[in-house]
Amino acid sequence: MASSERTASDEPGLGFSTRAIHHGYDPSHHSRAVSHPIYTTSTFAFDGVADLDAAAALGGRLYAREFNPTTALLESRLANLEDAEDAVVFASGMAAFGALILSLLSQDDELIVHQTLYSNTTTMTEQGLPRFGIKTVPVDLGNPASLDTVLTSRSKAIYFETPINPTGDVLDIEAIAERARRAGLLVFVDGTFASPALQRPLQHGADIVLHSLTKYVSGHGDLLGGALLGRTELIEKIRDRGLRYITGAVLSPMVSSLILRGIKTLPLRMDRHGSNAISIARMLGSHPAVGWVNYPFLPSHPRHAIARRQMSAGSGMLSFGLRGGFDVARRFLDHLELITLAVSLGDAETLIMHPASLVRARLAVRPEARLQRGVGDDLIRLSVGLENEADLLRDLEQSLNRL
Ligand code: PLP
Repeated sequence: MASSERTASDEPGLGFSTRAIHHGYDPSHHSRAVSHPIYTTSTFAFDGVADLDAAAALGGRLYAREFNPTTALLESRLANLEDAEDAVVFASGMAAFGALILSLLSQDDELIVHQTLYSNTTTMTEQGLPRFGIKTVPVDLGNPASLDTVLTSRSKAIYFETPINPTGDVLDIEAIAERARRAGLLVFVDGTFASPALQRPLQHGADIVLHSLTKYVSGHGDLLGGALLGRTELIEKIRDRGLRYITGAVLSPMVSSLILRGIKTLPLRMDRHGSNAISIARMLGSHPAVGWVNYPFLPSHPRHAIARRQMSAGSGMLSFGLRGGFDVARRFLDHLELITLAVSLGDAETLIMHPASLVRARLAVRPEARLQRGVGDDLIRLSVGLENEADLLRDLEQSLNRL
């Protein structure tokens, strides 16, 4: 149940930044506090049984797994920014994915996925879901027609990321969604690498959008969160099954408040992530130590036209490979002085990761660890942050020049 407080700032025609700051909140309803309050309650008091009847019948204001006013404001604001009817938030992006699949798919259903996904999503689809009788069918959606080759009478939904983790490459949402719809599939798109400031997949035919709020949406690398957005009919099912009794993975109101704070600067931050990233992509593309660069907003990128059609600008995510591959990549990371070697993305700090090194390190504890399909052992993923462009370029160049 998203908050429905109407304010002057909800008039139609307001821009994204204005809505990111004001949507759904009216200070006059909250002791004139300009910033929203954090409701830390786990339960709600009823003014007699008639009030209990009314609250229960509305499906909310009973218990904090089902409703919290701070979290409801976050859901309402996210839905507004994504142009979605409704939104439901979770304790992490993975919790959102789990609730999505376990709410809308059943035993014997098949889930078609793009062959390259965030590594834990792949683990869930390959190892988790088969235990519940849900089969995952990976396919290369870089060619949308390949979807037709894996369809069966059990195909229920399709799931892909765009831009894709960790390559940063894009998939054509409209072309894939059109084929999927013809086959009667639900279309789920993970838009974490773009955020709603740059891309709104529902406008291109998706049924549900997933965001890890841990990344760009909150933007400061200090929390975990996830969201699903789409038509009320689907979101209500997920809230009522997934959140209420399947996973129970609710977001705390403290964290909802931090995410609301982050959202106020989302468009500003995405501008800076993107302008830093294109400069870095250009520098990498012309450096002799660099073998290849994948950033779809470089005009030379083979999917540049698709990126421009479905995104308003590039985000801070790019990947590249060094001549010399795996060993040279490790030396390059060790020479960096400013840029931080860390997993995750979308933070103010520029973060860099070498998935092949991560896999090698994980083999000790997870013998089944391996690189995603479509990811080579030379691939370096860069989440370009908000530092000064010149400082980032200098750090990357000094490390490249030492190889
Ligand atoms: N989707 C993508 C594209 C991701 O990169 C991640 C995490 O890195 C997730 C989902 C999972 O989100 P979380 O880490 O918030 O569980």
